[in-house]
Amino acid sequence: MSVVGFDFGNESCIVAVARQRGIDVVLNEESKRETPAIVCFGEKQRFIGTAGAASSTMNPKNSISQIKRLIGRQFSDPELQRDLKLLPFNVTEGPDGYPLIHARYLGETRTFTPTQVLGMVLSNLKSIAEQNLNSAVVDCCIGIPVYFTDLQRRAVLDAATIAGLHPLRLIHETTATALAYGIYKTDLSENDQLNVAFVDIGHASMQVCIAGFKKGQLKILAHSFDHSLGGRDFDEVLFWHFAAKFKEEYKIDVFQNARACIRLRAACEKLKKVLSANPEAPLNIECLMDEKDVRGFIKREEFELISAPILQRVKRPLEKVLADAGLAVEDVHMVEVVGSASRIPALIKILIEFFGKEPRRTMNASECVARGCALQCAILSPTFKVREFQVNESFPFPISLSWKGSSPDAQNGGAEQQQLVFPKGNPIPSVKAVTFHKTSTFSVDVQYSDISDLQAPAKISTYTIGPFPTIRSERPKLKVKVRLNLHGIVSLESATLLEEEEVEVPVSKEQAKEDTKMETDEAPSDTTAPSANETDINMQDAKGTADVAGVENGVPESGDKPVQMDTDTKVEAPKKKVKKTNVPVAELVYGAMSPADVQNAVEKEFEMALQDRVMEETKDKKNAVEAYVYDMRNKLSDKYHDFVTASEKEEFIAKLQETEDWLYEDGEDETKGVYVAKLEELKKQGDPIEERYREYTERGTVIDQLAYCI
Ligand code: ATP
Ligand code: MG
Repeated sequence: MSVVGFDFGNESCIVAVARQRGIDVVLNEESKRETPAIVCFGEKQRFIGTAGAASSTMNPKNSISQIKRLIGRQFSDPELQRDLKLLPFNVTEGPDGYPLIHARYLGETRTFTPTQVLGMVLSNLKSIAEQNLNSAVVDCCIGIPVYFTDLQRRAVLDAATIAGLHPLRLIHETTATALAYGIYKTDLSENDQLNVAFVDIGHASMQVCIAGFKKGQLKILAHSFDHSLGGRDFDEVLFWHFAAKFKEEYKIDVFQNARACIRLRAACEKLKKVLSANPEAPLNIECLMDEKDVRGFIKREEFELISAPILQRVKRPLEKVLADAGLAVEDVHMVEVVGSASRIPALIKILIEFFGKEPRRTMNASECVARGCALQCAILSPTFKVREFQVNESFPFPISLSWKGSSPDAQNGGAEQQQLVFPKGNPIPSVKAVTFHKTSTFSVDVQYSDISDLQAPAKISTYTIGPFPTIRSERPKLKVKVRLNLHGIVSLESATLLEEEEVEVPVSKEQAKEDTKMETDEAPSDTTAPSANETDINMQDAKGTADVAGVENGVPESGDKPVQMDTDTKVEAPKKKVKKTNVPVAELVYGAMSPADVQNAVEKEFEMALQDRVMEETKDKKNAVEAYVYDMRNKLSDKYHDFVTASEKEEFIAKLQETEDWLYEDGEDETKGVYVAKLEELKKQGDPIEERYREYTERGTVIDQLAYCI
């Protein structure tokens, strides 16, 4: 079984695998450690990763990048709109309100969802891992930003399914970093907790977490983030600065020219990097626009001055993470920075000022997430033995259930009720039971209790619970199990109706089992169920307005047995037993793909992958024909010279020439079968010559050997 970790970034991706001797970052087909997160659609096939980056300059409109910013977000999301302005490809609003990416592929314009495109990126990463491990890769861990919403997490899982992957866990990037940091630390104490702040400033976002380390474990104390503060914002500042400057000095408006915009942005990114190491930097671009060469210059101080609005935002996530962790700044023992944008000196200055200490760079800033993912996969995988290390994760959002409840002046089922189920900082994973007093079909929404930090609608999903069986007892309870799974996705897993019944007959163990089976299948129909209203009113007696009886923590996983009852034999006294009946639960997740959609996307991906493979094989076969032509031509005038007649040679050379011409003209763009046939045709003529040569040389060696023996 594979043990693999994937870090998919906005810009580039890293693949790490676990081997017996440790974690390795593996190389892609170009022997690089980083693979661009890009899919380029072509007339005949797709080019993904390094191949995609190579094609993207030629074909920017059909080169899809920055997919991490697009998945699981509504088209109307203002931040998405801002992101789209920086992207060269066409994105429109789909019928469901989510983005659709347009690209020319196989001679026509097609649309793809961001999830589909992420599936392509992941399948490329999967094949990189497979080539390195020389075996199939299915199980993996994938790093995700901590601010990913429920929907974005589901989208990553769907994309993984499309790619044929099975993530054992989606792990927060900063947590993966903390794991990669802590597992190798040999000086952790049993009792004294070491608090480390991890600050990741990437291309488009900033994430912070504080992890508490003890021997053999880490506990995430708090997370915080700014989902749109990253290296690219500094590029933009420089871009606007120079766009204005060039307008004034050279009378050119780069905004009128898409290519000039792309070139100026790229130059500004380079300039930003130069400024990280130098106090000043020049910016020269030849023929930027209107055949004008432009020259600019900026000092680091000025860069910091014009970046002030961005720099001011850095402190907020730092303050939040401390407050949420309940720590004073002195309680943070160390600060580790990762993410390449953290190279900007002004950012480090802010960190030093805030924490009162110099941040360290112990980690490999670009590889730590992938390494942490591979470690997590190794920990979860039954096939791998890893040092005992526990990861206690904390969930960054508060989650509530809401439903229409009972209320005297209720219309349409009553007033809106809310119950916090997973507070911010709740451990991941977690299962809780919420008890309702409901007896007829109703629906429950799962929602964020607070969306001030999120660019998402509050409502995540709606569950319809019912129909109910006929109710027999007076005060039935409905126990609803809510799960926050290892990926940080919330779902309402099951609903069980609990009815207390008095039993007066002696019960034997065997009988009890029988009763259990019967009663859980179907409630007897001769009892009159209290109406929903009555039940609701009952609840009002108990709890004012709420009809939820309570939230139980950490429901044991094995609590699924159909009936709980005391099954001691021969009990004569009246006793209570609880009858449990499962009530159906139907799920609707807003914006998520249905299982049928996913299946459909899996099939489409299969077709596209097949097409890519056919095209690659076609190229190989074409190359084989070309190589044969050159090779045979050389050999005919060299080592095969004595094994062909002059006329035979002449005829064959002509044929080879004709084939070469054909390859550049009519045969330039043929199918795989045609190239295979062509090669066979040539070989029919060439093989007898090769055969004669081989026979001769082999006979030669036999004779040599005989001579040697004598
Ligand atoms: P994200 O974390 O947002 O998903 P990512 O992981 O792809 O994206 P990183 O690779 O950590 O992002 O960082 C990329 C950013 O770092 C880019 O904006 C790049 O310009 C910037 N960067 C790289 N090197 C330097 C440098 N020397 N000085 C300043 N910025 C740099
Ligand atoms: Mg990153």
